Amino acid sequence: MPASVPAAETVAISTARRGAYLAVLVVLPVAALAAGVAAVWGRGIGPRDAVIALVMYVISVYGISVGYHRLFTHRSFKCGRPLRIALALAGGLAAEGPVTLWAAEHRRHHKYADRPGDPHSPWAHGESGWGLVRGLLHAQVGWFYTARRRSDRRHWVPDLLADPDVRRLDAAYPGVVVLSFALPAAAGGLWSWSWAGMWTALFWGGLVRYALVHHATWSVNSLAHAFGGRDFRTRDRSTNLPLVAYLTLGEGWHNWHHADPTSARHGVLKGHVDPSARLIRLFEQAGWAYDVRWPDPDRIAARTLPAGPAEWSGGAAHGGPSGTTGRSGPPSGVDGEV
Ligand SMILES: [Zn+2]
Ligand SMILES: [Zn+2]
Repeated sequence: MPASVPAAETVAISTARRGAYLAVLVVLPVAALAAGVAAVWGRGIGPRDAVIALVMYVISVYGISVGYHRLFTHRSFKCGRPLRIALALAGGLAAEGPVTLWAAEHRRHHKYADRPGDPHSPWAHGESGWGLVRGLLHAQVGWFYTARRRSDRRHWVPDLLADPDVRRLDAAYPGVVVLSFALPAAAGGLWSWSWAGMWTALFWGGLVRYALVHHATWSVNSLAHAFGGRDFRTRDRSTNLPLVAYLTLGEGWHNWHHADPTSARHGVLKGHVDPSARLIRLFEQAGWAYDVRWPDPDRIAARTLPAGPAEWSGGAAHGGPSGTTGRSGPPSGVDGEV
């Protein structure tokens, strides 16, 4: 734990809990992906399982991007109670933790991004090639196990803890994780009317899908802080990375997200397709979402870096090319306004 983080911001976690994180967040997803690759290699995936897995993938990724991230962590929009609960449940299907824990870690990430105190910077092990490899592994999944302390929810998400619905959702989280596997299994069993169909749907729509969702999400923490283009002025090393953006339904336009964390749209440049922003727009048009913080063109212009090579692929000094460190405080909306 870096000394620069005040003790009140984090809490110690037990060895048993770290072991559970190791099993559920590190080992099992890798095993599921390996089994998925072996299964594709051997027998392929049938259309029924592909459809079930894709639907589960889209629901859980939207739950993370629109629900956990843009709504609960950053308050990019407001919505009625039914949609709020539905988005939290969808995020729970990703099996990335209860919403308060997810939001607490992520708010700390914004405050300390790529500096000591960031829970998952790929630059945590220095600038060398080997240091970046270690850092990428740390940012992808390593920190789940190696961190001895977690962000203290009382410090980071008092607003969420004060919401009775959120507390109920936290309590219901283990049940939602069970649903995350039971739903695709039931869909496969009923669709095929067979036990075999239930098991293969559990494998593809449950296990392999959860592993893919995890690694797509975590690649925002690792790859989108190490490789790709920087179009906007931030004091961290966030980037815009198309492949990650496609896999995460818009979350890979991470450089603008750090430049303006409360923006409901992350992809603000031409070609930066952001399906999560489109979904929020649909909610707004339906009257279900309101007070949406759409990006302000003046703000985008003010934060756009001067044209020129802004590709970062590691090795550059912290802060990058001159002009990228012009801001002295945390990224806007991080302290108190996430
Ligand atoms: Zn980030
Ligand atoms: Zn964020």
